[in-house]
Amino acid sequence: MKLRSLRLKNCKVFHRGSIVDDAEIFLENGRITDITKLGIQRPVDETFDLKGLLVIPGLIDVHVHLRGLNLAYKEDYDTGTMAAASGGVTTVLDMPNTNPPTVDSKSLKLRVEAAEPKLYVNTGFYSFVPEDLTEASKLADAGIFGFKLFMHRRMPGYKFETLDGLRDILKAVSKVDLPLLVHAEDREVLETVKSENPNGDLETFEKALSEESEEKAVKMVLKALKAVKEARVHFCHVSSIGALKAIEMAKASGLPISCEVTPHHLLLTREVCIRLGFYGLVDPPLRSKESSAGLWSGIKRGVVDCIATDHAPHTLEEKTVGTLWSLKTGFPGLETLLPLMLDCVNKGRLSLSELVRLTAHNPAKIFRIVDRGRIEVGYWADLTVVDLKKEAVIEPSSFKSKAKHSPFEGWRVRGVPQTVFVNGEPVVLEGELVCKPGVGRVLKPGVS
Ligand SMILES: [Zn+2]
Repeated sequence: MKLRSLRLKNCKVFHRGSIVDDAEIFLENGRITDITKLGIQRPVDETFDLKGLLVIPGLIDVHVHLRGLNLAYKEDYDTGTMAAASGGVTTVLDMPNTNPPTVDSKSLKLRVEAAEPKLYVNTGFYSFVPEDLTEASKLADAGIFGFKLFMHRRMPGYKFETLDGLRDILKAVSKVDLPLLVHAEDREVLETVKSENPNGDLETFEKALSEESEEKAVKMVLKALKAVKEARVHFCHVSSIGALKAIEMAKASGLPISCEVTPHHLLLTREVCIRLGFYGLVDPPLRSKESSAGLWSGIKRGVVDCIATDHAPHTLEEKTVGTLWSLKTGFPGLETLLPLMLDCVNKGRLSLSELVRLTAHNPAKIFRIVDRGRIEVGYWADLTVVDLKKEAVIEPSSFKSKAKHSPFEGWRVRGVPQTVFVNGEPVVLEGELVCKPGVGRVLKPGVS
């Protein structure tokens, strides 16, 4: 990468919890070298006039499916990270349910090598829990950010059947000091409902992946954690109030656990799913109005650590044509996360401090993403410039993602990302992608 010095003039900067007006940011060799109130004349290679807009830390999305490899028809490393950049997200952590799946250091290497030359934003990788638990240390040495466990579906990697099996997983991940990312839903509940209803509808789907099932699975993990207290666990896309309460109590008891919620569970309810039909299916499903209010309350109480998209690109056909259990679930989310959340800031539902904490500070801290997630001297210049006043309509046909659809299609929002810097390089300028792939780096935890 070309190493150079930049001056970002005429901006507001979100710095240490408040907004600094009339600010300038100086960058050198990809890092922030100065944040000043008034411009001091000093030679730089290039100056960018940010026209009075607000600079926040580039967002870190800890739950993304970039696909690639044999699933590149759904999304690839370039389109997925272009979508991230366009959405103001400068770092993504990528899930391992790829094809071939990431289950050991060999399959990880294949994925990282396919991804690296195509990246527009920084990218870290997760693995499944390896079948041979001793392989966990090789994966840790290779630089993964954690291990993903789907409790309700039989996935590649380690098969756990009992609480003891879960304890063995927790021991293995704590030994290498990496988090276990848990998709918490109960396998028995899902399999029973599925076998009784081979051709189900929305209600069947909700029964199979109910709030109670999620709560049951979270409680099973918390029970297993009693024997392995030092294991770090991150609960993905919490959507059940009972699950969130259990997490809150466990956190209060001092367990090193964290959790995320998604924009779709915060902003959409099952009524939307009824209207959207099979397209609206997502796992976990959209819940009641009361449940989404409960997630907002979890944000306000500080129980929720991150907002993550679970960006899950599929073709429209995969999501809508077929019987219930054959359909793909989930939505693309990288290009809607920030506009939706800035709209919430404008509506007073979320403060700017909360937004930055949930999408940058906390993700960096929990996943040990060093020197990112804040605007500080010495940190990497991953910066998102937002126009809080600009209005926009969510238009999936203009997505950079290959998945050009969204449950938020047609929503009017106020607040959009305009310009994005990744590692000190302009990637998006006033809404236009301006760079070639390769600006994004492969990240490893604990490494600056
Ligand atoms: Zn996911």
